[in-house]
Amino acid sequence: MQGLKGKNVLVTGGTSGIGQAIAVRFAEYGANVAINYLKKPEEAEETEEQVHSCVKRMQKHGVRDVLVGADVSNEDEVVHMIEQTVEELGSIDVLVNNAGIQISRPTEELSVADFEKVLAVNLRGSFACAREAIKRFIATDTPGAIINISSVHQRIPKPGYLGYSVSKGGMQNLTTTLALEFAARGIRVNSIGPGATITPINRAWVDDPDKAEMVTSHIPMRRAGTADEMAGVTCFLASDDAAYITGQTIFVDGGLTLYADFREPWSSE
Ligand code: NAP
Repeated sequence: MQGLKGKNVLVTGGTSGIGQAIAVRFAEYGANVAINYLKKPEEAEETEEQVHSCVKRMQKHGVRDVLVGADVSNEDEVVHMIEQTVEELGSIDVLVNNAGIQISRPTEELSVADFEKVLAVNLRGSFACAREAIKRFIATDTPGAIINISSVHQRIPKPGYLGYSVSKGGMQNLTTTLALEFAARGIRVNSIGPGATITPINRAWVDDPDKAEMVTSHIPMRRAGTADEMAGVTCFLASDDAAYITGQTIFVDGGLTLYADFREPWSSE
């Protein structure tokens, strides 16, 4: 992929699942990676090991990696995380807003605190990280790129997960509004919208064959996606191959957003 070699990339929530796959894939393309972790440094170190193994393969490209701890829902920690990234890598060219949580609760039982908690990580955290990265892009006249890891649920409602659904709907607007605000400066902002992806966030059905079958039966391609498939598209959006793309969401979902129930005509003709 064009233009990733030597770039400095920050991936939030890089300790597991999609974030980890993204961090590793950027390293494979020769980018230096700052891996954000929340509360389990040992998992971050595991990711670092994976990045190191890539680094070994990519040594000729001089890839570097650094671990940056921060809770993205805490503004001060976000400010510090970006400062640390710039201090350790020298600059920031790409931000991947990947950190995310979900809370499942019937809406009539959902507390305001739990609703806000999900928004604070998924949406407010993404805004805070984007704002700090954009400050650096502007200060250094960098044609930076931001990739938001959204979800099919920015389009498809997710009953029982109101905070999550609202946060991803907001992320779509965050993507388009920032894209328009900064397009003339050469700063691009895009999203990917993963469908059902095999990662720890989906432990509830990934490890249960019956539940997994129920999930995949709704997916036109009849299988869940892999974290690596999300990573490939994320790297593409950060690369020069996507230089003229901004404000877009690429759904990486095996056709989940294609209204699978319309596979067969509904009419009784
Ligand atoms: P995951 O394995 O649970 O990873 C989420 C990551 O976010 C973890 O590294 C987690 O750190 C981190 N995180 C959580 N709260 C944080 C905070 N306050 N500050 C910093 N980091 C925080 O889930 P995943 O499936 O890879 O999800 C990654 C992204 O993809 C999320 O935004 C999710 O909404 C999106 N997505 C996933 C799917 C799917 O099917 N898997 C589908 C659509 C969209 P800890 O491990 O330390 O808590």
